[in-house]
Amino acid sequence: MSQHDTLFIGGEWASPSSGQRIEVRSASTEEIIGSVPEAQEADVDAAVAAARAAFEDPDGWARWAPTDRAAALERFADALDKRGQEIAKLVSAQNGMPVAISSRFEGVFPSVLLRYYAGVIRQAEPEERRPGLLGGTTIVRRYPIGVVGAIVPWNFPQSLAAFKYAPALAAGCTLVIKPSPETVLDSVPLAEAASEAGIPAGVINWVPGGREIGAYLVSHPGIDKVSFTGSTAAGRSIGEVCGRLLRPVTLELGGKSAAIVLDDAQLDLAAIGEKLFTATLLNNGQTCFLGTRVLAPRSRYDEVVEVFAALAGSLAVGDALDETTQVGPLASDRQRDRVEGYIAKGKAEGARVVVGGGRPDRDKGWFVQPTIFADVDNNHTIAQEEIFGPVLSLIPYADDDDAVRIANDSDYGLGGSVWTGDDERGLAVARRVQTGSIGLNNFMLDPTAPFGGVKASGLGRELGPEAIGHYQQTQSIFT
Ligand code: NAD
Repeated sequence: MSQHDTLFIGGEWASPSSGQRIEVRSASTEEIIGSVPEAQEADVDAAVAAARAAFEDPDGWARWAPTDRAAALERFADALDKRGQEIAKLVSAQNGMPVAISSRFEGVFPSVLLRYYAGVIRQAEPEERRPGLLGGTTIVRRYPIGVVGAIVPWNFPQSLAAFKYAPALAAGCTLVIKPSPETVLDSVPLAEAASEAGIPAGVINWVPGGREIGAYLVSHPGIDKVSFTGSTAAGRSIGEVCGRLLRPVTLELGGKSAAIVLDDAQLDLAAIGEKLFTATLLNNGQTCFLGTRVLAPRSRYDEVVEVFAALAGSLAVGDALDETTQVGPLASDRQRDRVEGYIAKGKAEGARVVVGGGRPDRDKGWFVQPTIFADVDNNHTIAQEEIFGPVLSLIPYADDDDAVRIANDSDYGLGGSVWTGDDERGLAVARRVQTGSIGLNNFMLDPTAPFGGVKASGLGRELGPEAIGHYQQTQSIFT
């Protein structure tokens, strides 16, 4: 039996409870490129039981010295590095992420995070002694929260899983991870790497499946904490369940962030094209933090439209596995239907297509042309709802106050950016935007800083040393 016929539960490649399989198609060719067993409720029960047993083991992971856990995380990182290119190609074949991008993120970021959290846990003091305000000394003790149910989307399947398992493992938790059905194949080398690194049996388990099995995992009585990344709709439903169960939950949800171009911004594409691309169109527009509402000053509106038209028009659209591709296909036909529905709505509501708006001339693959809409009003559907495709809405504004007002006139608050020649002015604008993170003349996540959303973009934060605290409980002992 190959590993593609098994599930990784309890540190082993185990036989699944049924013959149901998830078939994965290439986003670029639409051909079936592999399949894995689809976890059923009995498999989730087995995975949660394995994670529970590993967590409760009196000599197990949760009780290892932090330095020993740190060493194991570093071995895990080494084992992942060996598979970095394989993982990057698998991700790109499945979800259409250009391989030039997956080799920079998906093949690298997880091991960077593992090493980072190994360093954090080496420095952390599990117990802190505080002089009591009313006398005596209080010991504040931190201990791992328990078994974590981690649910991951398809757009950055490896990095977003690592956002969860790296701090959770560092804290001493055990996990059951449910990847998205669109991107299940890359879980196999990930599980192999964990096994090779000597992460003990049951500490990390995978249950590939769809929404129903995700919902089953969220409400499973053996789960102590849920960490979810995905759509706002799914996040609301998971939040409701966790609220009823009083189960701690972190929700990383959708976005509709603003890229605010101030009137003194330098707009030479040769100088800023790559940064502008990363901040607004990365991964075929399938990135949660992108500034997909570009706010442009009326005084330079036509120039901003020209710059974005030139940027979008110059991008190499092609097979995700081609090293020169900058924009690949969308992850699924369902996702392409959704994006095309929004493009039709944008046209119907009166926005003007400047570039794109259709499909590129290709026989196969779920492609949509990079598309720029001008004359967008912030009330238009394409300015209010998350499209999750290579589609930008260019919205005019009057002055800095008006830009901030429009940026904040959104249900979401996840990412965003400010483009200016004056850093102090840019920072002043950035501080007024209701969002969990924002970039100045750029947008690039920093693993040492908390990342997450406000409003409908989520609850809680990932990354930074703070993330370890989301996988811990505290106990105060008064002496
Ligand atoms: P999705 O919500 O449909 O699915 C995400 C994951 O949740 C999948 O594994 C899915 O099987 C599972 N799921 C769906 N409904 C569930 C439920 N009721 N209970 C349990 N599990 C459930 O999202 P998607 O389409 O896969 O991903 C795209 C979305 O993810 C976008 O909205 C994007 O903005 C968001 N996202 C957010 C971040 C962030 O950090 N804030 C990062 C990446 C993606």
